[in-house]
Amino acid sequence: MQTPENLAGKTESPETIINLASRRKQDTDTAKESMKKSSIPKEADVLAIGIDLGGSHLGIGLMDPNGEIHDHEEIQIDNMAPPEVTLKIVADNVERIKGKHGNICGVGIGLPGNHDSDKGICRFSPNFPKWHNVEVTPFLSKACSLPFFMLNDVRVATLGELHYGAGKGVKNLVMIAIGTGIGGGVVVNGKLIIGREEGAGEIGHITIDPNGPLCNCGNFGCLEAFASGPVISAKGAEAIIRKRPTRLREKIQSLEEINPKVIAEAAHEGDVVALQILEEAGKAIGIGIASLAVTLNPEQFILGGGVALAGEPLFAPIRKEVNRRLHILPAEAVSIVPASLGTRAGFIGAATYAFLQCGIPIP
Ligand SMILES: [Zn+2]
Repeated sequence: MQTPENLAGKTESPETIINLASRRKQDTDTAKESMKKSSIPKEADVLAIGIDLGGSHLGIGLMDPNGEIHDHEEIQIDNMAPPEVTLKIVADNVERIKGKHGNICGVGIGLPGNHDSDKGICRFSPNFPKWHNVEVTPFLSKACSLPFFMLNDVRVATLGELHYGAGKGVKNLVMIAIGTGIGGGVVVNGKLIIGREEGAGEIGHITIDPNGPLCNCGNFGCLEAFASGPVISAKGAEAIIRKRPTRLREKIQSLEEINPKVIAEAAHEGDVVALQILEEAGKAIGIGIASLAVTLNPEQFILGGGVALAGEPLFAPIRKEVNRRLHILPAEAVSIVPASLGTRAGFIGAATYAFLQCGIPIP
C-alpha cells in the first residue's frame, strides 16, 4: 500500500505535497524555468508525453509533432484515492516511458475541473472529489525531472482536435464535449482562449432557458441540465417508467443500463421516443451554438464526447435549431462536425499542449 512517505522516494508528508501552493511557489517556479531551459531537446524528433487523467482511468501516450503515437496505455485508477497516490502512479508511468524513449521535451496533463495552470495547481476536479488545491505539476516535475503542464481536460482536447483532428487547418473554432458533463474550448485566431480564472469555454453552463431545470453548478437552465449524458439517460428511464411505447425497454435488463449509447441505437432504429429525447438535447445544443456563433463567429463547431457519437439523430435537430435562430449570419457558414480523435483526444491534446508550452513547432 502506498503511503505518503514512500512517494517518489521522497519523505514529505502529504501537507508538504498539497495545499501549500504559496510557500513553495518561488522554488518551483525557478526549478520549472531552469528545467524548461535545460531539458528541451533541439532535435526535430522531439517527443511529448500526453496524460489524460479522467477519474476512473489514466490515458498516457507518447507523440511526435507530426501526431504519430509512439506509445500508448490506458490504466485503471481509483478516483477516491488520495491525490499523492494517483500522482505517484502518473509519475511511475512517465518514468517507464522515459526509460524507453529519449528526447522528451515535456509532459502535458488534461484534468477535468478548474486549475491554476501557471502554478500547476488543481483547484478542484469533479472527477476527483478529494482533490482541492493539489500541487499537481510541482510534485510531478520534481519526481520525474521533466517540465509538466496542466490544463482542463476539454481545453487540451480542443488543442488536439485543432492541430491533429477535425479542426486541422481551421483558425476559429469551438469544441463542445458532451458526456457526463458538458465542457468546451474556444480557439480564436489559432489560439486557445483560457480566461482569467481559466473558465473560458465552460459552454455547459450557458443559460438555455431561464426557467429550466436546476444544473449541477447551482444555476437553472444551463445547457448541461438539458443535454448531458445523465440527463439523456434519465429521460430514457422516465419513458420506460411512464410506459411510453419504446423499444428502449427491450434493450435493457434494468433501468441502470440506460445510457446515451442505447438511446442512440434505438433512435437509429427509428424509435420515436429515443428520437424525441435526442431532439430535445439537440435543440438545447443548437440554441447554445446559435448564441456562440454570434459571439465568436467561428468557422467550425466540433462536437465530441460520448453523447456526440449519437450522430444524425442528434446533429439534425442541432442544425435545424441553429438555422431557425441564426439570422444575422449565414447559418450555412456555421459548420458543425463530429470530433475525430475520439477517446484519444485527451492524451493527444495533452501532448499537443506540452509541445506548445515548450515552443516546439507543430507542422
Ligand atoms: Zn450549470
